Amino acid sequence: MAKAKKTPPKPSEKKQLDQINMIIRPGYLGSGRLRDKVAVITGGDSGIGRSVAVLFAREGADVAIVYNSSDKDAKETQQLVETEQRQCLLLKGDLSKESFARKMVKDVYHHFGKLSILVNNAGTHEEDYDFLNISTKQFQHTFDVNVNSYFYCSQEALKVMEEDGCIINTASVVAFRGSEHLIDYSATKGAIVSFTRALAKNLAESGIRVNAVAPGPVWTPLIFASFTKDHVRNFGKKTPMGRAGYPYEVAPAFLFLACGDAAYITGQVIHVNGGEIVG
Ligand code: NAD
Repeated sequence: MAKAKKTPPKPSEKKQLDQINMIIRPGYLGSGRLRDKVAVITGGDSGIGRSVAVLFAREGADVAIVYNSSDKDAKETQQLVETEQRQCLLLKGDLSKESFARKMVKDVYHHFGKLSILVNNAGTHEEDYDFLNISTKQFQHTFDVNVNSYFYCSQEALKVMEEDGCIINTASVVAFRGSEHLIDYSATKGAIVSFTRALAKNLAESGIRVNAVAPGPVWTPLIFASFTKDHVRNFGKKTPMGRAGYPYEVAPAFLFLACGDAAYITGQVIHVNGGEIVG
């Protein structure tokens, strides 16, 4: 049987695909803002985490990325980091399991001999328009991955982190405005904002800063994996800019919070969401 010819993407779709695949802004020149730092990035194999890993590497950091399942994505990210002449340690496992989360931080420290930056970014969500459909198992799992892992990794990292180190958590716009079809997920992101503020205050005098980035709609694998086709078609169209963002547009907020430019900033959330005003 003759193979069906693939329809080439329309110019607008092609532009979008090119941007989804863009890891960091073309022409971006690193300037050593993270020279010789060591960063661990959970969920660093794809989407926002991958852009953060490669941007940190371009700015001079070695990175460890933690991922759940996709060896292919992880290897690709590793290659991208190595192209920046920096090391990339891959750690595969389930961060909702306390033993793995704590061991992984210890492994990073033993491998590099130091730990400067923790980016808690791993996340999961399942779409449900009917609140009564959300099972206790799902609710607990969303918290296990999105909140408990941030607690385990932060606690373990703080035992070994450099004195001027920092923690950056990935929250979401839905922490501030809620989402009717992501109720458990919204609750976890609200918890992350409060966790960020409370831990920042607790550590303020120590020199270790804790901040968060709250992305709005961003084109990443999480979106294609968990939303209906209809939702994906309209994804991001309600933002003031009328479009979803791309990982390469979100990663610079993590870089700013990670480097010395943000030395007097702790307990804050940077909103990268196409113009939606939330607070
Ligand atoms: P993604 O699917 O590319 O990344 C999710 C990452 O989490 C993956 O690397 C995956 O390996 C990791 N992960 C999931 N469950 C895990 C587990 N049990 N153990 C270990 N790792 C696990 O999607 P993304 O959109 O880049 O998501 C990154 C973060 O950004 C998440 O916290 C997500 O909630 C947040 N976020 C995304 C958007 C968006 O529109 N894409 C908006 C706001 C916030």
